[in-house]
Amino acid sequence: MTVVTEPTGPTATRIQLKGLNMAELESWSLKQGEPAYRGRQIFEWLYGQGVSDPAKMDNLPRALRKRLAGEADLTAASILTRTVSPSGATVKYLLELAGGGRVETVSMVQGRRHTLCVSSQVGCNVGCDFCATARMGLLRNLTAGEIVDQYLLAQADRRLAVTNVVFMGMGEPLLNYRQVLQAADIFHHPKAMQLGAGRITISTAGVVPKIEQFVAEERPYRLAISLNASTDASREQIMPINATWPLAALLKAARAYANRPRRTITFEYVLLAGLNDTPDDAARLVAMLKGLACKVNVIPYNDIGGIYRRPKRPAIDRFVAALRKGDFPVLVRWSHGSDMAAGCGQLVAEAA
Ligand code: SF4
Repeated sequence: MTVVTEPTGPTATRIQLKGLNMAELESWSLKQGEPAYRGRQIFEWLYGQGVSDPAKMDNLPRALRKRLAGEADLTAASILTRTVSPSGATVKYLLELAGGGRVETVSMVQGRRHTLCVSSQVGCNVGCDFCATARMGLLRNLTAGEIVDQYLLAQADRRLAVTNVVFMGMGEPLLNYRQVLQAADIFHHPKAMQLGAGRITISTAGVVPKIEQFVAEERPYRLAISLNASTDASREQIMPINATWPLAALLKAARAYANRPRRTITFEYVLLAGLNDTPDDAARLVAMLKGLACKVNVIPYNDIGGIYRRPKRPAIDRFVAALRKGDFPVLVRWSHGSDMAAGCGQLVAEAA
């Protein structure tokens, strides 16, 4: 595995504007002696039109375009490689980040749906045992601009508007809370990508204080929790984070989220042979999630060459049948792109 950690980004004299929100771009414009509305125009070019070349921003005065070209960086990432699945539906991108390091982004097209799975950190230190990214450790948090560029680059490359964003790529999004929410706010903004809040999902392994903050701040986005076990003992075995925030605390925070009007929480459940796949596990989940406005995505494990295995089909069917006794919808998600290591928990920034 090759991971580039040396900074390759802007020099100290240049300012990175990709990732700034409208208020920040207005304030940057004012500092340049320009009216605030120039900042709004730059915001619309960058995120609404996906234009990062100042020469093309034809409603800006020539002098400002020149200053943007000379003093600002408007690009935060670039595509190093793209890998297409045999069906063509899934494309995995390896991106070089302006601030140093590489991440992967996965674009999945299914019918009219174009879902983008974005990364939020270079690596991750949460240490889930079944996850390829965990093996990298944490190198750093992404900036909002580096997250936004994953969207813009993939959308332009596929020439297809993104309809859904899931923060389920490399990293624990809630441990990079401010930048992740800033990027989500840009995706959602009416002058930027205009994605509905219900089309933006932030996933977490269970960072309880950050879920509480997300709820307290009344963030409008969807929340997904990587649950993966029905007891503290088995969860701790595969997700060390459970030792800090066990199931009771996690479910309390989940209920606080789901108790608000029109909120449904998603639980992701990676099914691992002999570990969390019995009908007893399913029965415990049914009891645990009773009365909670939720849905459960069951994800048969994708092999990453470790100690875990995907259960055999009859075991998957038995587990799902037992889980369907609960008062919540259950979906079995056969990860797209598992044939090219782009399924859930399989992203790791290797040089392809
Ligand atoms: S599953 Fe997510 S939180 Fe867990 S180690 Fe992997 S990237 Fe980090």
